[in-house]
Amino acid sequence: MPIRKILHLDLDAFFASVEELRDPSLAGIPFAVGGSPTGRGVITSPSYAARVYGVRSAMPTAKALSLCPGLKLVRGSYRIYSEYSDRVMAILDDFSPLVEQVSVDEAFVDVSDLPEPVKEICLELQSRVFSQTGLPCSIGGATSKLVAKVANDFGKSSARTGKAPRKITIVAPGREAEFLAPLDIQALWGVGPKTAAKLRSRGITTIGQLATLSETELKQHFGSHWEGMRNRALGIDQSKVHSDSELKSVSNETTFHEDSADINYLLDQLRYLADKVGYRLRKKNLAGNVVSIKLRYSDFTTITRQISLNNLTNLDDEIFDSAAKLLRKHLLPGKAVRLIGVGVNNLDEPARQLSMFEPKLDRKEDLAIALDKLKDRYGKEIIRRASSLHKKNDVNMD
Ligand SMILES: [Mg+2]
Repeated sequence: MPIRKILHLDLDAFFASVEELRDPSLAGIPFAVGGSPTGRGVITSPSYAARVYGVRSAMPTAKALSLCPGLKLVRGSYRIYSEYSDRVMAILDDFSPLVEQVSVDEAFVDVSDLPEPVKEICLELQSRVFSQTGLPCSIGGATSKLVAKVANDFGKSSARTGKAPRKITIVAPGREAEFLAPLDIQALWGVGPKTAAKLRSRGITTIGQLATLSETELKQHFGSHWEGMRNRALGIDQSKVHSDSELKSVSNETTFHEDSADINYLLDQLRYLADKVGYRLRKKNLAGNVVSIKLRYSDFTTITRQISLNNLTNLDDEIFDSAAKLLRKHLLPGKAVRLIGVGVNNLDEPARQLSMFEPKLDRKEDLAIALDKLKDRYGKEIIRRASSLHKKNDVNMD
């Protein structure tokens, strides 16, 4: 099995970081997104300056205030968080078609196909997320999801500076077991608090100790899962990065630096997004017969509109034609747009034409796939070209 390159990206104090972008006077001061101290309010996301005082997520607000009397409370703006989250996930989609979003601020990315060293990919991804959204993030890189995630958590928790950690923690291939060995058993997936307590009572506190237990001992704690646990303790995890939503639909969207009501500009963006969606569909050998667009206006009202086709498609031109039709029909004249998206839904494997009398679609698809191969060959340039261009226009990347 070829060595995989898996990243785990986690935004640093996501909600608090968004609030700092919205109100720069919050930068560097102890504040938290959270509920009011009366009643059962809890802290959702403390700033790093507040964490220095011991303020933590899920802590009752009253307790947080007793630890940090100057703590400023900010009410959350969840609609905006989800918009930022979408933007970050769209950046990840530029790096790989294999992105598994774990939560609003966390995702796995399989970048095995990129030729660059993991460290370089992480630095590029981190700086792109920052330059395109203003948000700090930390990234773990390893040969598996398990080790990438544990590495990232470890890196983040070792940074206690009162500022966003912005950590990159890489575990080199072959060093997985060695990296995990000194860590607490609970860092491992599948070791809950109860099991951890039992293991500790027998003197087993680290992952390294867990890895050396005999089959009999492991069976006592993990039953039939014992072998999986031993593998994990050794840093062996074959689980794949699943882009689960993608079986239902593939979509891409972009938020503009400046809102625009210019139909030609919007069509250009649709063209770019349609190409990207088509490329991703062909990569997965999927096609769909519903094309949708998403428009978010400057006042944040958001609409999605869709159109059904008679055939399955994964061709850039067909996706674009339908999306353009939808845009012309539904765009409110004069109203500025801040985000535009294109999706293809209702996916299936494309029916390869069996009839020799209908070679048309096939030939178009073959041509598209041949072009994709060229794009893949240029793949090694994509990261670099993107970074040199994103200041000018973050959407024209390939
Ligand atoms: Mg986070």
